Amino acid sequence: MPIQWFPGHMTKALREMEKELKNVDIILYCLDARAPISCLNPKLHELAKNKKIIYILSKADLVDRSQLSLFISRLEAPDCSVIAVNSTQSNSTKPIVNKKKKLLADKIQAKADLGINYSIKCMVVGVPNVGKSTLINNLCGFAKTETGNRPGVTKGKQWVVTKEGLTLLDTPGTLWPSFKDEKIANNLAYIGSIKEDVLDITELAYSFIADMREHYKANLEERYGIAVQNNDENIDIFDKICVSRKCLLKNAELDYDRCAKLIIDDFRKGRLGKIILDK
Ligand code: GDP
Repeated sequence: MPIQWFPGHMTKALREMEKELKNVDIILYCLDARAPISCLNPKLHELAKNKKIIYILSKADLVDRSQLSLFISRLEAPDCSVIAVNSTQSNSTKPIVNKKKKLLADKIQAKADLGINYSIKCMVVGVPNVGKSTLINNLCGFAKTETGNRPGVTKGKQWVVTKEGLTLLDTPGTLWPSFKDEKIANNLAYIGSIKEDVLDITELAYSFIADMREHYKANLEERYGIAVQNNDENIDIFDKICVSRKCLLKNAELDYDRCAKLIIDDFRKGRLGKIILDK
């Protein structure tokens, strides 16, 4: 399903981010643990070439940790660390503070030698809805920024100081100007990084069912109490879920639209079990 969307304000956000980058020591790069590779923004990597990065795999509570370790190894590099977190849990972000201090130990020491108590400056980046605001609120120890399970809740730029004395810059979620890879576009749509008004939710759920039957068939069967046969078409599975969830119109026709919303919502809330979309 080709996803059409409008990158104008995203391009502007990237330009603003480029301006601010020179003022920061480290980038906290939020990636949704359910699609860590799909969340990587090649444009952002171009801008952040010489910066230290901590990849934050957010929503780690929604995935199988042993599978996640494969992605952690793929992302680890010199000057880059990776931490998996559940930002909705208080104190779960403590390791991030320690990692930052370790990555910037030389700079902190050099400042200390000059008698300066240096406050590390971080920029928090990531595609919409990956948990940037939740992470910042957690690091601050109180609600500093608005959060929401839909893309684009974080607007404009906000500097905040955490209880540990870190200075954080929140940025609006940025997507990249075009999704050449349909799989990536779909993954970003499943995790809620693309605004619903540019999506056809029924087509999205149809693609989701196709992806799930390939790697997570048992999750569909268990959640919806259905049996998926090898010779079922994807639409047959969609029909079975509609019937099982009683998504029916007045004339007993199947209500695909309602069922689609239900399936995508089940995935986003983790009710379909622990799923990693990237391979
Ligand atoms: P932002 O757009 O990147 O700033 O994302 P938000 O911080 O607004 O978070 C989007 C949604 O994801 C909200 O409903 C959060 O409660 C939820 N969320 C954020 N981090 C986590 C996490 O680590 N685990 C879970 N289960 N949900 C999270």
